Amino acid sequence: MARYPRLMPTDPRMYSAEVVRSERISPSFQRVTIASAELAEFDWQGLDHWFRLFLPVARGNGLRLPDVRGRVWWKSYLSIPDEDRPHCSNYTVAAYRNLGDVGELDIDVVLHWHDGTLSGVAAWSAEAAIGSPVGILDQGVLFDPPEDTSAYVLVADESGLPAIRGILRDLPTDAVGTAIIEVPATDDVHDVQAPERVRVQWMPRDETGDLVGHRALKALQGSKAPGPDAYAFVVGESNLATQGRRALHRAGLPKDRITFSGFWKA
Ligand SMILES: Cc1cc2nc3c(=O)[nH]c(=O)nc-3n(C[C@H](O)[C@H](O)[C@H](O)COP(=O)(O)OP(=O)(O)OC[C@H]3O[C@@H](n4cnc5c(N)ncnc54)[C@H](O)[C@@H]3O)c2cc1C
Repeated sequence: MARYPRLMPTDPRMYSAEVVRSERISPSFQRVTIASAELAEFDWQGLDHWFRLFLPVARGNGLRLPDVRGRVWWKSYLSIPDEDRPHCSNYTVAAYRNLGDVGELDIDVVLHWHDGTLSGVAAWSAEAAIGSPVGILDQGVLFDPPEDTSAYVLVADESGLPAIRGILRDLPTDAVGTAIIEVPATDDVHDVQAPERVRVQWMPRDETGDLVGHRALKALQGSKAPGPDAYAFVVGESNLATQGRRALHRAGLPKDRITFSGFWKA
């Protein structure tokens, strides 16, 4: 990912909010809804709009947020003592609702178990108590198709499902293309609202034992070359993002027409 993607706000804002709901929406996804009066001012861009999520370092602790000066928050973050420094990870706006005095934002968190236990944001989401504080720092969108784009190629594993779902929802209705979405299980296939001529190809791993991203990558490598005026957006486990970009470039798509981002590393 470019250090400062073109569509990142120059003066990103930090919003405080609290958890108002948390529900399991499919076997591998927990939807946490946060809300606050500040969030009523959130400038939602749709598509894959993402943010940095700050959580208290331990359950029941208060939340100490870093100061944000322009795009710089990292220095202030590191200056917070270890015992107070919040947990920070990147997430996508799965949905946003302006309810007048209050803004509500959904976060769809992938539940990934390691040795039978959840850690990090996944553990927080599954146990999120109503009223727990969070901070979110607006980071804008990564999706950046050239104006002459003739077709879209969207590829993701489950961590990129909220991003791809937002992009499909907001593409022009006459858009053409393919979306390849890998999910842990058939029951994790979500409803998507997509333009009629964008083919959505779900790739559940189910009990195959395949590494995350493997099935999506195979499907991409086996698909028709997209044509030099297409635009591709490939996100998810770092190998899927880099190998996906390589496959698309080999198939004739110029590198500057591919947005790729490793959302996490196995
Ligand atoms: C722009 C952007 C948007 C994102 N949007 C979302 C989103 O909407 N929903 C979402 O769930 N994720 C999303 N991600 C991915 C998320 O930031 C990572 O999964 C992150 O590692 C989670 O943070 P953590 O602190 O819980 O885990 P970490 O402390 O970073 O990792 C803990 C352990 O879990 C493993 N791990 C992390 N993520 C996964 C995973 N998905 N599957 C399996 N193992 C994993 C790591 O390899 C590590 O071993 C997004 C990432 C980016 C860059």
